[in-house]
Amino acid sequence: MSTYNKLSIIVPCYNEEESVPLFYAEAIKQDEFFASKNVELEFIFVNDGSRDKTVDVIKSLREKDERVHLVSFSRNFGKEAAIYAGFEKAKGDLVVLMDADLQDPPALLPQMYTHIADEGYDSVGSRRVTRTGEPPIRSWFARRFYGLMRKISNTEIVDGARDYRMMTRKVVDAILSMKEYNRFSKGIFGWVGFKTKWLEYENINRVAGETKWSFWKLFLYSLDGIMAFSTAPLALPLVMGILFCLAAFVLLVILIVRAALGYNVLALGIFSAVSFVGGVILGCMGIAAMYLGKLYLESKDRPKYLVDEEF
Ligand code: UDP
Ligand code: MG
Repeated sequence: MSTYNKLSIIVPCYNEEESVPLFYAEAIKQDEFFASKNVELEFIFVNDGSRDKTVDVIKSLREKDERVHLVSFSRNFGKEAAIYAGFEKAKGDLVVLMDADLQDPPALLPQMYTHIADEGYDSVGSRRVTRTGEPPIRSWFARRFYGLMRKISNTEIVDGARDYRMMTRKVVDAILSMKEYNRFSKGIFGWVGFKTKWLEYENINRVAGETKWSFWKLFLYSLDGIMAFSTAPLALPLVMGILFCLAAFVLLVILIVRAALGYNVLALGIFSAVSFVGGVILGCMGIAAMYLGKLYLESKDRPKYLVDEEF
């Protein structure tokens, strides 16, 4: 059993004027539970450059409730930046990240809290086990993406994981210590480790407004994910270069045999030479790419390790 004093609820908002009041009304239904545990709540709304009345709506909530806080961006910087800003502002020894659209049900908050406070987990993540209400083509690409990530990255990225997650201060500080610019939270949560409990639930559609993710935006985001957590694609030229050189060698063997049999081998000779030169160039690029990969990881300046406990 551990005691916690304050839970910071971080809500990134981009054009959520309709969702924010509904979210707030739903979230404060948990007040009683947290009061009974002596845990104070604070709401941190991060306005990510909304073009609607999101900020006004948040300001009017603040007039009624001192626990409401706002960080408002000068323009749209993306959900990842909003999450980071929320983590920086959060004062709680517990922090939870939630969407404004009620796709992350506040009713799960007491359960998340219990896993952390009573069972000693450091973090409680949530994953949806169904993708109903989502276009099938999107689900298909999402599954391929997670499959690929599992193969080429050594960070655990869970299929269907949402960003809805409650964490202790230890985990939040670990996340803040990853200062990289291109952020991919699902990867970062996996990378920092710690004892994580997973809750599963059925997909819930958003209450109001529409998803901020077009197919194209999601596709680019998935590339960000791959590039942030894997340097495997950089090995591709090296592998291809080796294959081309092998092909050149096989062609050369065929050429020698055919020349000995008295055939004209001019075309084969050209193929073999081109393949060899191509292979060497690709191979050299591949070697440079491998160094680039190392340099890339160095430039992220991630912590070399994270400590859970020591004495
Ligand atoms: N969001 C944001 N900046 C953006 C896009 C989205 O802060 O550029 C917020 C959005 O307001 C919502 C959350 O991130 O609270 C998740 O977005 P959305 O519900 O559109 O994504 P989905 O649930 O469809 O994956
Ligand atoms: Mg949503």
